[in-house]
Amino acid sequence: MTVITRFPPSPTGYLHIGSARTALFSWLYARKHGGRFVLRIEDTDRERSSEESVQEILDGMSWLGLDYDEGPYFQTQRMNRYQEVIDQLLDAGKAYHCYCTREELDEMREQQRARGDKPRYDGRCRHRSQPPQDIPPVVRFKNPLDGNVVIDDLVKGRITISNNELDDLIIARSDGTPTYNFTVVVDDMDMQITHVIRGDDHVNNTPRQINILKALGVEPPRYAHVPMILGEDGKRLSKRHGAVSVMQYRDDGYLPQALVNYLMRLGWSHGDQEIFTRQEMIDLFDISSVQRGSAVFNPEKLLWLNYEYIKAGKVDELRDHARWHFENAGINIDEQANWEEVFRVNQQRSKTLLELVDRSLFFFREIDGYDAKSVNKHFKGQAGEILVELRGQLEHVRSDWGK
Ligand code: GLU
Repeated sequence: MTVITRFPPSPTGYLHIGSARTALFSWLYARKHGGRFVLRIEDTDRERSSEESVQEILDGMSWLGLDYDEGPYFQTQRMNRYQEVIDQLLDAGKAYHCYCTREELDEMREQQRARGDKPRYDGRCRHRSQPPQDIPPVVRFKNPLDGNVVIDDLVKGRITISNNELDDLIIARSDGTPTYNFTVVVDDMDMQITHVIRGDDHVNNTPRQINILKALGVEPPRYAHVPMILGEDGKRLSKRHGAVSVMQYRDDGYLPQALVNYLMRLGWSHGDQEIFTRQEMIDLFDISSVQRGSAVFNPEKLLWLNYEYIKAGKVDELRDHARWHFENAGINIDEQANWEEVFRVNQQRSKTLLELVDRSLFFFREIDGYDAKSVNKHFKGQAGEILVELRGQLEHVRSDWGK
């Protein structure tokens, strides 16, 4: 069996580092097993999806070096296919039209609450014999009424959900558009996904998706639900905790390999090894040894790793990553004769590429001003004379400087 994993982001904002981590895990799993990695853009929410966000995802993937073997597929280009599968389920009696009005549903839920039951759709349209003419129906999936759904999750272990916890899910809205859980199922089936690695915020969707796959006669993939990343205050990682967008880290002067290394180690370990080459990551990473508990994001550790990568980096690779940061500072690094020496000195003391650029600028451009306050503070007494003298002395040794 060829392993096929996927990364299916919704393009509704920036590429979050939590999503990048599940993308990385899926990529590593495919690479480790000589399999394939699929990129699928889940853009059916047309109001919230945007072109810029798609571009940000593509840029982020390429910056992180997560290459895909198939895609990007776009769900909005697969609408006919979803319709075809909805019709197939309707024809087979595995889905049905539901004409319940909002008022009817509200009343049903009210009664359930009053009885102390969990509000859920009671399946009343399964047997409706005379459909009302004037109501455009939704399509619901006929969830099995008894039995359990068992998920042998590669991270969380066995999860069992009773079918009577699940109601008949809407798979197409009254305007005909398919819903999220349904499009995922059709895509995972058509793309022959063997391993679904995703955040555990999706764990409640999984039994529903498994039931639909089974109704379509398809063996469900294996699932691995990865715990969320939390901030140091124990809350889900968000902007409040600092940068959470992958591209923000690029802008802030991080190296992609440092971020990738950090994300892999977040909730996964191999003894006390901290730094891994790409190949080591592929060889050693194992989805089933990802921690079951949530991982806590530690920005200082990421900064430390970035520093380690900069210190140990090859200067020409550092230059490739720093090129546009220099451009932003008005310097064309490829035109600087002494850039290698400057990099070698500064890479030992720069935690980010921005620091490296900042420390290097005065080598590459004329000094165009000075800080009057510092001059007043430090240039006291004979300081001026001494410096002029020093300049004279240094002029003599100048020929040795290149050594
Ligand atoms: N599009 C979903 C999201 O961005 C991913 C769904 C999945 O992994 O199945 O959360």
